[in-house]
Order: sequence, then structure tokens, then C-alpha cells
Amino acid sequence: MSYAITPPAIPSLPIIGSDQRFPVRRIFCIGRNYAEHAREMGATVDKDTPLFFTKPADAVVTDGADVIYPQATQDLHHEVEMVVALGGGGRDLTAPQAAERIWGYGVGLDLTRRDLQAIAKAKSHPWDVAKGFDHSAPVSALRPASEVKLDADTALTLAINGQQRQHGRLGDMVHGVNEIIAILSTLFELKAGDLIFTGTPAGVSALQRGDHFRAELVGVATLEGKVA
Ligand code: MN
Repeated sequence: MSYAITPPAIPSLPIIGSDQRFPVRRIFCIGRNYAEHAREMGATVDKDTPLFFTKPADAVVTDGADVIYPQATQDLHHEVEMVVALGGGGRDLTAPQAAERIWGYGVGLDLTRRDLQAIAKAKSHPWDVAKGFDHSAPVSALRPASEVKLDADTALTLAINGQQRQHGRLGDMVHGVNEIIAILSTLFELKAGDLIFTGTPAGVSALQRGDHFRAELVGVATLEGKVA
């Protein structure tokens, strides 16, 4: 068997303390998972109907590469988020089963073309062009779950050009990590290699060309880079 065109490379993330890499299969994201961020967007949290969307796996930007300022927007927003990487999957998982599927953790930016999202919202269109564009998912190296202790006070921070823009604590998430995985597994059969962006705290705002960003899941992972 041979392919008619050169098969695309498998997107992957570095692993802290290892030469191996983590292959990325799909990227799932949850929206409105911090009440204060939902409020700043003029939305409310609907706990019974979580909002999910996806990005293509090859939207990941990693290894310190620059984020390319995307085409078709004048309003590129940062959303700092904890990223969970799955080492196993399944359907209709319970929360304890979900916990066992977590391979590792990192921090990422759910980059958003906010102007295109506003149009999509107004027209009741899907969010793909606002969320799933090229280079829309910068992610740090992953830290294996066995080395990570998270609690409600674990902090998620983002500084732009040295100024803090976003700060949140995991305890303020509407749906916790295990719950997000369990709910997603009722909608999709999850698989090893899937990444989940777990929502952003308040403080989202615009990025400009030349901005330096430093995102941190404190004590776990750091992501630094530049908008080119
Ligand atoms: Mn987000």
C-alpha cells in the first residue's frame, strides 16, 4: 500500500523530563467553564449543557515556536487554559474511570478570532472559523500525571510583555477535569492522544504582533513565546 500524497506528520508535544513525545490525536475544548469569564463575554454558565468545540490536531504550536498572527482577524484573543492529555479513552466513562485516563497536564492558549466569533454568535453559525484556525493552539511541554498534584488553589496565569492579564484557580472551574472527560465520553469515544482544553478564567484580551506571552499552570508547566 502506498499513499497518493505524502501523509501529514503526526502533531506532537514534548514531555518534561523525557526524550519521547506525546502524539496528538484530537483537540477538544470546553467553553464557559469559569463563571467570571462567561460573565465578561456577556454569557451565562449553563451547567447542564456544557459548550464543547474542537480544533484540528495540527493547530498545535509547540517547542517555543512563534505564534503566527492569523489571517482574517483584527482581534486575536488569548485564553489561558489547563490542557489535559489522555493516555487512554473510552465511551460513557464515570468520573473515576476518567481520572485513570489522564496521561499528563500542560498549559495552552485557546487562541480566538474574537471578531469572527462575534459574527458567528450573531448569526448562530458554528465557531470553527473563530476557534479552529491554523496555529490556534499553542501548548507547553506535558508533565506526566504521576508527577502532578493539583488542588483547588493550583493557579493558572498569563502575562503579556511581563504584565499579568489572566489569573485563575482550578477550584473555580464549573466542571472539574474528571467531569469534563466523563461528559465528553458520552458524546465521543475518547482515545489516547486526545487533548482537552479545560476553559479560561476571566481577563481575556487582544494580542498584538510582537507580544511576548508567558502562560503558567503553576508548579506544572510553562509556555512562553512570541506573536510573529
Ligand atoms: Mn477557551
